[in-house]
Amino acid sequence: MKPEKSKELSRAAYQRACRVIPGGVNSPARAFRAVSGEPIFVQRGQGAYIWDIDGNRYIDYVGSWGPLILGHGHPKVIAAIEEAARQGTSFGAPTERETELAELICRAVPGVEMVRLVNSGTEAAMSAIRLARGFTRRDKIIKFAGCYHGHVDSLLVQAGSSATTLGMPNSPGIPQGCTADTLCLHYNDVPALEEAFAHYGSTIAAVILEPVVGNMGVVLPTKEFLQAVRELTSRHGALLIYDEVMTGFRLGWSGAQEYLSKLGIQPKQGPDLIVLGKIIGGGLPVGAYGGRAEIMKHIAPDGPVFQAGTLSGNPIAVASGLATLTELEKYPPYDRLEKLTQRLAQGLAELCRAAGLACQVQHAASMWTLFFNEEPVSDYRTALRSDTKRFARFFWGMLERGIYLPCSQFEAAFVSVAHDEAMIEATLSAAREALEEIAKD
Ligand SMILES: *Cc1c(COP(=O)(O)O)cnc(C)c1O
Repeated sequence: MKPEKSKELSRAAYQRACRVIPGGVNSPARAFRAVSGEPIFVQRGQGAYIWDIDGNRYIDYVGSWGPLILGHGHPKVIAAIEEAARQGTSFGAPTERETELAELICRAVPGVEMVRLVNSGTEAAMSAIRLARGFTRRDKIIKFAGCYHGHVDSLLVQAGSSATTLGMPNSPGIPQGCTADTLCLHYNDVPALEEAFAHYGSTIAAVILEPVVGNMGVVLPTKEFLQAVRELTSRHGALLIYDEVMTGFRLGWSGAQEYLSKLGIQPKQGPDLIVLGKIIGGGLPVGAYGGRAEIMKHIAPDGPVFQAGTLSGNPIAVASGLATLTELEKYPPYDRLEKLTQRLAQGLAELCRAAGLACQVQHAASMWTLFFNEEPVSDYRTALRSDTKRFARFFWGMLERGIYLPCSQFEAAFVSVAHDEAMIEATLSAAREALEEIAKD
């Protein structure tokens, strides 16, 4: 085994950060608490690699938690950012690139005729919920346990990933009134959905879901579930919102609808609203929500539903997103990414089997999760039966061998355009050692 990596500088940086930033991090998932340790501090990234401030190199499967489908420092993205920055950082006035990005999203994503740009996925989900409520003049929303839609008050109920592993599914500071109109059901549970609509049908504004879940680890929907969600919302006059902050431009150029159609499980009629983020900013802060013009025209200043932002449509962020999406349109990487991910997933599953460790490697396009779990994960309940202690050991075993994975059992990992076959094989070699070490005791 390799000598232990030095983490001295990261340790010092973390202690310094902890004095002035809660937990030393600006977003809790980064803190490595779910794997009982301290985070590494990143110096730089290039392609599929990141380097920490102690000089250690890692193959990165986090990719900033999803945005970096082109890898770190893609030359075209960097050039676009530089060019935009030279022209001015912010105007608070419309710029043509915003329209270009909106046109591109409308062209790519079925059912999106208009979009509003914001600064994060959280903001986009929050605004889409407000729009759905304003449009339907109803208050109740349905979400699913283990789906994350940002840290929006009304949506922070059993919200997966970092909220799960921190053990605070309901955060203090959220008045009960804020979640009183949120019904939280289990993913893939059709009878529960039917019952909710039977009881509350005429008061439900929207159902929001991750069409392929990433935020309890990768979980796929069943055909029956997607069908039921679409039929029930249509029948009861509620809107269906696909939160594609993670899956948009990740599962395919057209996002989850394209991917699920290929699997034969996407209903003919798509969602009414779509929430985007992550990849559409190419590593800079951009979120968006969009849908049919008839609905989107309820947003101010066309309509009465208020939503605004000083830095929304920021020229540098939009340039970064445009460069990223343009590259994806010109050189679609999706088939290659899926093959690489399949090879990785299959390899990991075989290695676990060989080591005698129960596991489910679940993947969709270039998203994957290795669950240390006896049974397939189909919802939050089954996800929670995973062996998180074993996951923590695996995480550290991999980090020590130069592989940077999401620091929680309940997250998706990502393969980027910058990953190649050799890196996948190197990852599998590292996994073999890490898993054998775990199996020994
Ligand atoms: C990341 C994510 C969000 C939140 O986006 P932020 O930019 O972190 O606010 C919302 N929904 C889903 C599905 C996400 O994966």
